[in-house]
Amino acid sequence: MSTYTREQVANLVEGKLDWDTTTRMLTMPKDEERFELYLGVLQGKVKWHDRIVLPLGPHLYIVQQAATRRWVTKCGCGHVFCGWKENWKLHANVYVRDTAEAMADVYPALMAPDTAWQVYREYYCPDCGTQHDVEAPTPWYPVIHDFEPDIDAFYGEWLGLPVPERVD
Ligand SMILES: [Zn+2]
Repeated sequence: MSTYTREQVANLVEGKLDWDTTTRMLTMPKDEERFELYLGVLQGKVKWHDRIVLPLGPHLYIVQQAATRRWVTKCGCGHVFCGWKENWKLHANVYVRDTAEAMADVYPALMAPDTAWQVYREYYCPDCGTQHDVEAPTPWYPVIHDFEPDIDAFYGEWLGLPVPERVD
């Protein structure tokens, strides 16, 4: 039996959950049913049929492609960035804020970082323009590869669920 209804998990995803239920969810042990409910809610929000394996952000997912069983990183709009182990940022559109003028869009006057020391790199979907990530590194720093999720351990050891079939 699941602790939460699909409607409650959907409201959590949409940021519309009432505060009492939210605090109860935050303080209770996590359960694998909730992860499956969560994936089901996310799956209901996208128009394609590839199976969501793991969300990486509000509109970015590792998915199992329905036709090939290949795992890829995919935008909510359907755009495929690359294989799931690659750094999707290298396949995104990038806007670099490396001038005082560009920083003025996001900071009040005189509050922005010195762009000789810090820049902003914004990563966008080439198809729909959704901003998927922002980095604030020193200018010379390479594109950051956020993390490589251990999906086998997450499904198998944490959740006790079968790992979706994978063709790399
Ligand atoms: Zn997109």
